[in-house]
Amino acid sequence: MEKVKPWLGEPQNTIAVLQKYGFVFQKKYGQNFLIDPHVLDKIVAAAGIGPDDFVVEIGPGIGTLTQYLAYAARSVCAVEIDKNLIPILEDTLSDYDNVEVINNDVLKVDLAALAKEKNNGRPIKVVANLPYYITTPIIMGLFENEVPVESITVMVQKEVADRMQTGPGNKDYGALSLAVQYYADPVYCGKCFAETVLCRGPKVGSAVIRLTCHQEKPVQVQDEKLMFNIIRASFNQRRKTLANGLKNAATLDFTKEEVEAAIDALGKGASVRGETLTLEEFARLSDLLSPYKKG
Ligand code: SAM
Repeated sequence: MEKVKPWLGEPQNTIAVLQKYGFVFQKKYGQNFLIDPHVLDKIVAAAGIGPDDFVVEIGPGIGTLTQYLAYAARSVCAVEIDKNLIPILEDTLSDYDNVEVINNDVLKVDLAALAKEKNNGRPIKVVANLPYYITTPIIMGLFENEVPVESITVMVQKEVADRMQTGPGNKDYGALSLAVQYYADPVYCGKCFAETVLCRGPKVGSAVIRLTCHQEKPVQVQDEKLMFNIIRASFNQRRKTLANGLKNAATLDFTKEEVEAAIDALGKGASVRGETLTLEEFARLSDLLSPYKKG
């Protein structure tokens, strides 16, 4: 497929499109538009997009990354919430017959059904320069709703990328690290300068990260929901010991004795903090406490 005009990887073409349509940035949708061809190439390379791939793009904006994806993939489905962007996308993507745009909130789209319909149920690749205000709900939604996903390659705030890929003992380690690592293998693909995007308001440092979904979970746990409740309770009260965090959590109902006995059986001292536990240890702790769950 030929690269067609207006090729939005060239910043002057992005500016011309925004002027042509008198586009007004919507802060509530976390809009910023990529204007750096190196970063666009980097995202597509990090995602490993090839001619057989069906790609879901979340938030195409004016279609910049979409053009790159359409050029590399078999087919692209782009989900955009802002109705004001739809006529612009019809224009900028008019030369691509392998792109479909859905005007909807991605959190309301049944992506599992889409994968079934458009990719014969085979795992899809998700690529996005994510709206920062809903990064975590989007990623957790993909994992928890059992959408068949091969990988998620996204540009996110640098701090969020750091949190996703770090381990115990690091200040960024928390519930997001454990949730992401339970479902996927995070690979940091490089940071991006603030000048990479065009936006209204302050620019933030960002990074590209690829989450390659596990075919088999790295740990076995009897009650996934309980494990994540325990993880959240442990990090909600970071300054407290793990025992106090679990005893005081409104979402858990274990007695002091049950919590202390489980931590002891895990081979940890009474003063251990949640932030030192690995995913395997949280899974074991959850299995130790699971028989004492009430209700
Ligand atoms: N992909 C474009 C780019 O890189 O130039 C735009 C990225 S911008 C950071 C995020 C995009 O996501 C915006 O177009 C915004 O309107 C869209 N968006 C925000 N919330 C959304 C939602 N809940 N569902 C679908 N799209 C959303």
